[in-house]
Amino acid sequence: MRIEIVAVGTELLLGQIADTNSAWLGDRLASAGVTSHFHQAVGDNHERITLAFRTALARSDGIIVCGGLGPTQDDITREAIADVMGVELVRDQSIVDLITEFFGSRGRTMSANNLRQADVPVGATLIPQVMGTAPGLICPLGHKVIYAVPGVPHEMAEMFDRGILPDLRERMAEAGEEAVIVSRVLRTWGASESGLAEALQGRIDVLDADDDDADGVPAGSVTLAFLASGIEGIKVRITARAATLAEGTALLDREEKAVREAIEIQLGDIVFGIDDESMEVAVAAELRARGITLGVAESLTGGLIASRLVNVPGASAWFRGGVVAYHEQVKFDLLGVPVGPVVSEAAAVAMAEGVCRATGSDVGLGITGVAGPEDQEGVAPGSVFVGLALPGVATLTSELHLPGDRERVRQYGAISALDLLRRALIELEF
Ligand code: ATP
Ligand code: MG
Repeated sequence: MRIEIVAVGTELLLGQIADTNSAWLGDRLASAGVTSHFHQAVGDNHERITLAFRTALARSDGIIVCGGLGPTQDDITREAIADVMGVELVRDQSIVDLITEFFGSRGRTMSANNLRQADVPVGATLIPQVMGTAPGLICPLGHKVIYAVPGVPHEMAEMFDRGILPDLRERMAEAGEEAVIVSRVLRTWGASESGLAEALQGRIDVLDADDDDADGVPAGSVTLAFLASGIEGIKVRITARAATLAEGTALLDREEKAVREAIEIQLGDIVFGIDDESMEVAVAAELRARGITLGVAESLTGGLIASRLVNVPGASAWFRGGVVAYHEQVKFDLLGVPVGPVVSEAAAVAMAEGVCRATGSDVGLGITGVAGPEDQEGVAPGSVFVGLALPGVATLTSELHLPGDRERVRQYGAISALDLLRRALIELEF
């Protein structure tokens, strides 16, 4: 079942409102296992709306149209549907009564225009309105269908769940194509998109192969996609399509294992989380598992790292606190950084060790660098030094050269420092 979404409204084209309805519907359709290859947005114009419908019907099995069901002259979705169906609009007395009562009970006068909402294409069935005054429509065209819902997002969503989804499921059951689509996101830090794509090329080839492979998984039922997510790294999304949720989950589990192995072999331990798991959640898990505590000393990140850490509920169990040592004098006085250049490896080491002492933590993370836009001490923006003091080993350091403006350098610095800590705990088998 291929469904095309058509969002109606000139304001969508002008960028006055964002088409959140199509995004919401796209997500819902995907989870219901309904394929959607195209979305259209079209203005409030009869010819162009009917063209959008005809285009959609030529390549899809059905349409969900949202918007243009209201009472005003520019709400012409009903007329366009009737035109494409080749039928008349007939005024439905039960809707007339409802609208009249709606206005009466609120003590408002009803203009004649409001009754346009009672016009129904011959052959259509109604999705009764429970929130506004415009009913939704289910309009059959041979074995295809146009569903029409209001543009107001909460009315649209309510009608989709109550009126459209059950009808879609029935049609899919009749066609023997009930399915679920499930997905899982692996979150990575430290690799480039092309590096990841290269590491996973083998998997992509296996999944693309058009003969069923040994374990009988049909071609196209599992796909991989890369999503570059800026300061949150690169995500690898695994999507699986199956007859049942249990089968879909089994496909995801199998593919996750294969993807993790392929990434690990070529790029190391760069997967830090799944779905909504942030870097700070990953760090928290590693610290908690070892029963050790952390303190942070931050210069250019100005508390960003500490702020991320305390996003995690229960952080006081493993996060002792931090020092925002922005001015060099604070680095010298509070953290015992030796007098000298403060954008340096030596300063990062001293900050990490100093904050262990200052906060009584087992582990100390120090970060210093130049956020920009100006050079500092002759060091270019984007240069960052991270120090990581761990019990029983020499303090580790990392020198980074981060791209972007001041904000990005600070954000990249924060997540890079957290990742250094995460990887050190795993790789040093602490
Ligand atoms: P109404 O009966 O309220 O007039 P309608 O079916 O005529 O509803 P529109 O007039 O097209 O719908 O849109 C009503 C409001 O809903 C818009 O002003 C806008 O705020 C919101 N809206 C419409 N379409 C979308 C969309 N695709 N995404 C997000 N919001 C939308
Ligand atoms: Mg309207």
